[in-house]
Formats: sequence, structure tokens, C-alpha cells
Amino acid sequence: MSQFQAHSSPSSSLNSSSNSSSNSSAGQVLLECKNLCAWYGAAQILFDVNLQVKRGEVVALMGRNGAGKSTTLKALMGLMPKKTGVVNFLGQDQSHFEPHDAARRGLGFVPEDRRIFSDLTVLENLSVARQGARKFPNGQDAPYWDYANLGKLFPNLASMPHRLGSHMSGGEQQMLTVARSLMGNPLVLLLDEPSEGVAPLIVEQMGEMILTLKRQGVSILLSEQNLHFAQWVSDRVYVLEKGQVRHHSSMQELCEDAQALKAYLSV
Ligand code: ADP
Ligand code: MG
Repeated sequence: MSQFQAHSSPSSSLNSSSNSSSNSSAGQVLLECKNLCAWYGAAQILFDVNLQVKRGEVVALMGRNGAGKSTTLKALMGLMPKKTGVVNFLGQDQSHFEPHDAARRGLGFVPEDRRIFSDLTVLENLSVARQGARKFPNGQDAPYWDYANLGKLFPNLASMPHRLGSHMSGGEQQMLTVARSLMGNPLVLLLDEPSEGVAPLIVEQMGEMILTLKRQGVSILLSEQNLHFAQWVSDRVYVLEKGQVRHHSSMQELCEDAQALKAYLSV
């Protein structure tokens, strides 16, 4: 644990930036894509996807299985071998960036496979992801995580710092992948189906965690099929069908739109 304590939070730590979403810079667009198209081999998967994630909001990317949610997150991270269109992050075109450039600039990603290093401990898994403190484009300090304040967000991980990844439950591993991405101090976090395939208790912890991150000033784009979960945590929603955005609105508007729910989500 000492290596984490040695890097104590800067004076501008989590608490002092926790009200950032209530100030005048709330609503600033941090991540945006325009006419994003992507291919696997010869198969076009995404067709002119446009979306925005603003400071301080949680945005859901919904749609049935195979609609293109994971592909969209991968394309935003620079992980699709072939894509066209523009991805802009923090006001800079990063369409041609490598995935590690995106991460280094503060775009966090928790992919669906949720791999951790199974032969490393919780602490070691976290330490490999450590990056320095960040600022928002307007110069304000961004939320900052170290082992101590991550422990408050993930008490069960804090209770097992020396547990090997291979000795953790699926839910604990899932929490660890999210905690690890926070060690990079992301300004925007892309989460691929955080509620999928985990026990109800972990789903609840995931939801609470997302809302806590939002309060602390992190913007989140989450891919999700679970309407209840998305409704609980999200402000706005984009719905994909066959790689196209077919609907976007506030989360509440979608939930009141029986026709859209039936057409795009079969609920
Ligand atoms: P979702 O996350 O909404 O379930 P995906 O983005 O994973 O959807 O998939 C969108 C489409 O891309 C699907 O038709 C899927 O079969 C196809 N696809 C996904 N991954 C690959 C891949 N690695 N190679 C080829 N096709 C893929
Ligand atoms: Mg997916």
C-alpha cells in the first residue's frame, strides 16, 4: 500500500472538485463523434453515428444485442481497424489517435471482456494503471484517484489488497476493472454493459458507483441493454439499431415513449 500513499492526492483532490458539475462549465461537450462509420473487414457496422457527452452527465447507449454499442465505444477509443468520421475529445480531433493516446488524454474504457491480470494482486492491478492528475479544458482540477480514495468507492476491493486476480469472484473482478480505469483519472469513462452478467448486488453497487462518479465530476458513456439500470443512472440516451442512431432524447423521454421502446428495445 505504501507506493500509493507515497503519491498522496494533490491539494485539489476529489472533494474540492466534487461540485464541478454544478458550476458554469457544466454542459461543455467533452467527447463527440460526427458521422462515425466503422467496419469489421468488409462489413460496415456503424453508419454515421453522431453523439455527444457533456461534462457532468451520464449518457446511455442502448440497443439490442448486435446493434453496434460495443463497436461504437471501441471506435471512440481508436480500437477499430477501419473507421471514418470525426472523434473529438476535449476539443481536439483524435480521429487518428492510437488507443493509448486516448487513454493518456483522459478517456477511460472498461471493455466488455473485463480482463484483469489474474497473476497480479488487487494493488498491483491498480498500480499498473496509475496516471497523473488532470485538468478539465477550462483549467479546473479533475477528480483524482489514488488507492486511499478508491477504497471508499470500492470497500470490498480495499479489504483485499493482496488478493490475486485469479482468486476473485466475477463481480469483484468487474469492480477491479472499473477501479483500474479510474487510476488513469479519466475525464470521460466509457463503460461497456456494466450490469451484464453480474449478480444483482453487484449491479446495485455498479449503479451507486456510477452516480458517485457523476457527482465527483466524471462524465460517463455506458452501453446498456438493461432499461431499468439505464433509467436509474442516465441523464440522456442514444438508441442504436443496425449501427445507426435511431433515437436520442433525455432518458425520461425515452421511458415515456412506448413506441420507441417497443421498436428499438422490444420492451
Ligand atoms: P452490441 O454491443 O450492440 O451488442 P456489437 O458492437 O458487439 O453490438 O456488434 C455489432 C455488429 O458487429 C454485430 O453484427 C456483430 O456480429 C458484429 N461484430 C462484432 N464484433 C465483431 C468482430 N470482432 N468481427 C466481426 N464482426 C463483429
Ligand atoms: Mg456489446
